[in-house]
Parts: sequence; C-alpha cells; structure tokens
Amino acid sequence: MKRKIAIYGKGGIGKSTTTSNLSAALAGKNYRVMQIGCDPKADSTKNLMGGRRIPTVLEQIKEKGEDIRLEDIVFEGYGGVLCVESGGPTPGVGCAGRGIISAFEQLESLHAFQVYEPDIVIYDVLGDVVCGGFAMPIRGGYAREVYIVSSGEMMSLYAANNIATAIRGFGRRGYARLQGLILNAKNIENEEAIVNEALKEIGTQMVQYVPRSPDIQAAEAKGGTVFETLEDSPMKEVYNALADKILAMEERNE
Ligand code: ATP
Ligand code: MG
Repeated sequence: MKRKIAIYGKGGIGKSTTTSNLSAALAGKNYRVMQIGCDPKADSTKNLMGGRRIPTVLEQIKEKGEDIRLEDIVFEGYGGVLCVESGGPTPGVGCAGRGIISAFEQLESLHAFQVYEPDIVIYDVLGDVVCGGFAMPIRGGYAREVYIVSSGEMMSLYAANNIATAIRGFGRRGYARLQGLILNAKNIENEEAIVNEALKEIGTQMVQYVPRSPDIQAAEAKGGTVFETLEDSPMKEVYNALADKILAMEERNE
C-alpha cells in the first residue's frame, strides 16, 4: 500500500463529495483505491455506487456473524474503487466511535488490505471533534496523512483548527501528519483571503481550491461523481488537480 489518507472536516462541509470525486480521479490515473466511509450515515461511497447505499460492516457483522466474508463488506464501485462503509449505531444509542473500531478490526481480521492490495486507502471521517473512535484512523496508525476539508466559514475553520490540534497531539507520538487543507468554497466574501489567514494559525497549507459548482448537485442527482455522470465539467479538472497534488506530496508510510 502506497498511501493511507484520512479526510476530516466539519459535518456537511463536503468531505464525502470531495473524497468520492478524489477516489474517482485517482482511479482514472490507474491507482487501485479503497474508500472507507467512517460515518454512521454510511453515505460516503454512494456516489461511487450509482447512488446506492451499500451494507455497512457493522450491519453485516450483526447479520452474518462468524460467516462474514470480504464480499459482504467490500464493494467495487465506479472505476474499480473498492467501497466500504463502517456504519454505526442508531443515533442516540451507543458510541459511533466504538463502531468504527469494530469495523476496522473486522477488515483486518479478514485481511482486506492483503487481499485487495489497494495502492491508496482513503478514510472519509465524520468528526468536528476528533474524539474516541473518530480519532481511530489517525491514532490507530491506519492513516498516515490527513487532509482537512473546510470553507471560509468560521465554524468550519474552527473545526479545522481543532482537528489540526488533535493531529499534532498524536503526531508527536509518530502517527499521522497534517498535509494540508482543501478549501471547498461556500462563496462567502473574501473566502480565500480568510482561509489563507486562518492557515497561518492552523499551521498548514492550502492543497486545492474547490469552487462551489452546480455540477456537484447535477452529478449527485444522477447518483455519481462528476467523472461518471457529466460529459464535460470543469470540476473534473479540479479533482484531477487535487489528485495530482496529493500524489506529489511526500509519502509518509512506516
Ligand atoms: P457529513 O459530515 O454529513 O458526512 P460531508 O462533509 O460528507 O457531510 P457532503 O455530503 O460531501 O458533506 O456534502 C454536503 C452537501 O454539499 C452535498 O449535498 C453536496 O452536494 C454539497 N457540496 C459539496 N461540495 C460542493 C461543491 N464544491 N459545490 C457544490 N455543492 C457541494
Ligand atoms: Mg459525509
């Protein structure tokens, strides 16, 4: 496995949209990608699966027990991207973080990475607060690099700063490194300048500017990424550029 990446950011900021389009872009560059949604909503990979929600690891553990197989939890989506959803408890019941840990343990015990041999694994992680299981991808050594998705809005930059602080805390112990911020624009006034100012405090760089675009909704309505569903969209270039920049970043495995 060449790269192990986690995408963090405030709820609703565009993590799953960015992640699935990034996975599709990387697949188009002939990388074998595995995308793991770490969110009880289990909607991270739906735009790679024709708009379909796949069964989650936790659902399948419950249903199949000891008989669970990799085919029950890993699904091949657009461009051959391997799609996994950890799943989680019903809202208000149980700890979502704990669910992520169980899902990761199940993937490991079935040797998912050895069997599929992905070049790049991307974790799409819900979490403004990097507590408990939501820290697992970085704290447990699963992901080695982190990218934060944020707009120029105060609340999402605040979340970005919290995530950065948490990563630095873990980073001293040699786990994951913050590689940069992906600006998913909300088109607020002076957005790029605001984010650039905040980046000084957060202590990282901007990796890619992703404009707000109606193409995202158009693609979503067709159940896919812009790569699969739109003939010519300038957003393809944006996500290809993001993929190239991430590929060019220094690797930090082992
Ligand atoms: P959650 O925290 O709930 O998992 P998220 O961070 O994964 O949310 P998404 O589900 O990817 O966020 O995006 C939320 C909404 O924003 C989606 O409906 C998506 O269509 C829209 N969106 C995301 N990025 C863009 C963009 N660049 N342009 C236009 N719309 C966007
Ligand atoms: Mg999401």
